Amino acid sequence: MPTDTSLRRGPETDLAPLLSEETLYFTDNGAIYHGRCCGTSAQFTGRDISGQRVEAVSQADIDACAADGVALACEACDNPPQRKRR
Ligand SMILES: [Zn+2]
Repeated sequence: MPTDTSLRRGPETDLAPLLSEETLYFTDNGAIYHGRCCGTSAQFTGRDISGQRVEAVSQADIDACAADGVALACEACDNPPQRKRR
């Protein structure tokens, strides 16, 4: 009975989500989701299921849209992003 289990350790044991849970991200079609509301594929690879790279929505984007009267919000849970304190 082999006792060395190191051969059974795959690279997947080191995976951690690339996306931050509370950050909003632009996905394909311009839809916006929290990191935690994105699919697991996007969370771990930074790309959604269509292979499109997701991009973090910056505070500048949020502010610019707010100035136009548009509140950027997650399309999955509809919560506005938490405003960063400065
Ligand atoms: Zn959300």
